[in-house]
Amino acid sequence: MWGEPAPAGATGVVHVDLSAIVANWRLLCARHPGGPVAGVLKADGYGLGAGPIARALHDAGCRHFFVALLREALAIRSVVPGAMLAVLNGLVPGSEADYVAHDITPVLGSLAEIDAWAPTGRPAILHIDTGMSRLGLDAGELAVLQQDHARLAGMGPRYVMTHLVSSEVTHDPLNTHQRQRFEAACALLPPAPRSFANSSGIFLGRAFGSDLARPGAALFGINPTPGLPNPMRQVVRLMGRVLAVRAIPAGAGVGYNATWTAMRPSRIATVGIGYADGWQRRLSGRAFAYFDGVPVPLVGRVSMDLTTFDVTDLPGIEPGAWLEFLGPHQTQDDVAAHAGTNGYEILTSLALRLPRVYEAA
Ligand SMILES: *Cc1c(COP(=O)(O)O)cnc(C)c1O
Repeated sequence: MWGEPAPAGATGVVHVDLSAIVANWRLLCARHPGGPVAGVLKADGYGLGAGPIARALHDAGCRHFFVALLREALAIRSVVPGAMLAVLNGLVPGSEADYVAHDITPVLGSLAEIDAWAPTGRPAILHIDTGMSRLGLDAGELAVLQQDHARLAGMGPRYVMTHLVSSEVTHDPLNTHQRQRFEAACALLPPAPRSFANSSGIFLGRAFGSDLARPGAALFGINPTPGLPNPMRQVVRLMGRVLAVRAIPAGAGVGYNATWTAMRPSRIATVGIGYADGWQRRLSGRAFAYFDGVPVPLVGRVSMDLTTFDVTDLPGIEPGAWLEFLGPHQTQDDVAAHAGTNGYEILTSLALRLPRVYEAA
């Protein structure tokens, strides 16, 4: 599973377990019996590398993929031959020919986009805004389209979709409101398959099932059911190498502005991962790293390329040791809680300078 060594000279490595991603996809398929489950691979597969992930999911039988941007779609088009590959952020004027040439499906969210796409005569996905107030046809544009189906002539639609606002909050009434608005909207459009739930939506129950689910986060191990045990397998391990260990006397400060001062003679380990790697500066004095499953307290400021730990009680930690920053002992959701954000931001912040090492599916 986690066997691959670090590339020579690396001081930080992101291990990505492709077999865990495939297992997570299969679990989501089992939880969504009414229709297939797509893979949402925007932001380079939530920071983990869209190419290898797309290949592993395609090999496992996944035939629908979503990204945010046309260029993200172009990057994986050849990896998922024959599969539907759709761009969530809509159609930027002038890009129609690229979509057609590479068999990429736009997600259309306005009458202007629909009218720009119609001359291609090719299928598209229609996006309805049921509460996000972000992208998708708003109530006025939807009403126009419902009176004028001819505008959709020739384009399918391949799916009609909407996106949940609060799916991770199980009892939020918005979930049911959005489901009802979506059903009402679809009823007055030409019949088409529907796409509804994201990761957490799949766990809201059968009523939130549709002809195509669109999970991203849960594929990558982010808990789709916050507050309940995580049903997903951990996918990521971020490992940092200890570059130096030094003994400091009581009273010595550590790091910028000496925000931490040793209360006793201490051993400080310096690891080659910092905020430029996506290990946020606001984790200063908060999170841990793990060594053989034992928590090691982070002390002082996180700096750009380095983070310091108090290893006084862990004599086994020497230069060359590897500490786990993210992994089974401290997940992206745990670190997010320390940083005041969500696991999505933790994963998509992992810097490109960290090599990705893939454990085969
Ligand atoms: C990001 C996104 C998804 C996937 O959401 P997760 O919470 O990561 O499962 C699905 N649909 C749309 C429109 C999105 O933007």
